[in-house]
Amino acid sequence: MSDLMKTAPCGFVSFSDDGTMDEVNDTLLEMLGFTRIELLGWHIDRILPPGGRIFYQTYLFPLLKVQSSVEEIYLALRTSGGTDVPVLLNGRRQERRGRIFNDCVVVRMTQRHAFEDQLLQARRLAEEASAAKTKFLSMMSHDLRTPLAAIDGNAQLLESGAVGDLSQQQRESVEAIRDACRTQMTLISDLLDFAQLQSGKIQVQLAPVSLIGAVERAHALVKGLMDESMLRFGSIDCGEEHMVMADANRLQQILLNLLTNAIKFTPAGGEISVECRVRDDHVLISVRDTGIGISEPDLSRIFSPFVQVDSGGQRSASLGGVGLGLAICRELARAMGGEVTARSTVGAGSVFTIELAVAPSQEESRPAAVG
Ligand code: ADP
Repeated sequence: MSDLMKTAPCGFVSFSDDGTMDEVNDTLLEMLGFTRIELLGWHIDRILPPGGRIFYQTYLFPLLKVQSSVEEIYLALRTSGGTDVPVLLNGRRQERRGRIFNDCVVVRMTQRHAFEDQLLQARRLAEEASAAKTKFLSMMSHDLRTPLAAIDGNAQLLESGAVGDLSQQQRESVEAIRDACRTQMTLISDLLDFAQLQSGKIQVQLAPVSLIGAVERAHALVKGLMDESMLRFGSIDCGEEHMVMADANRLQQILLNLLTNAIKFTPAGGEISVECRVRDDHVLISVRDTGIGISEPDLSRIFSPFVQVDSGGQRSASLGGVGLGLAICRELARAMGGEVTARSTVGAGSVFTIELAVAPSQEESRPAAVG
């Protein structure tokens, strides 16, 4: 063995097919605390821990034999003192003096091992922090809802006149209180939904849902808001009746969210419409508006939680919401096996599309007759 090989900055061991060690360099002897005489002529098992011996028999040696070489095999070597040294091994089968040898170089992995431990530790901490955040969010959302319900309930009582007539000014104040309650309730619901989606706790109950029925219900709920905002409803173009596989309440939530956004971001005089198309075994439901639009770079961000963008000089934050609506829509659609996507042109409008699976027809879903 050349001097260079003896003291190279990596260990070297060569063994024959029966496992007998034929060569070892000084670096390996130093790494493992053996003398040359203690290893040459001995089986490679001598420098392997029990688990490593099985690994050698069942994986490392067969792989070397089949491939004639192995790269970056991660294993542990055992020192004379009985401790383990993690190493990375590269090996190659070569013929010398008419015999086959398995020549392997090994590099210590102590540093990398420490880095990996640190990374795992950091990941564990991040996961714990995320779980704690989700728990905190859902607890807070529950606790915030209760007093809010009491505020809204009492304001409703005042509004109804049950506790005495209100002056015009008092009536306006009560309306303002109820408005703020509604906004706050929506925010809390969003937070709660988001927290539950994050913790994988949201359950969706998939069943065949009438598409046109879902769209018409959502439209009925936003009609008043559209009139107030002086927007036209183009049409509902859902053609013939389609049944989709969805959780009826969650589909309603997504449609309402997309329609409310369309209303928020379309100036008076604009138009909002809904259309449905069938592609293969999927239905695409598109909510289209002629609003301010979203720029290309912003389109890739709006589905991320807590993202609001300022389009067309309009500050979204001033229109309410906390940037959770679309993140929730997308997660809910995915939980139903579907997707929500968006296309947009600044100044011309946006199209948000929900994709869901067509419900199997009754014939298909009926179990096959037995016998
Ligand atoms: P928020 O409830 O705060 O509006 P969303 O997640 O629903 O949050 O939407 C994120 C952002 O995407 C909005 O703040 C807005 O900037 C943009 N956006 C969503 N829908 C539309 C739309 N129809 N037209 C223009 N911008 C939109």
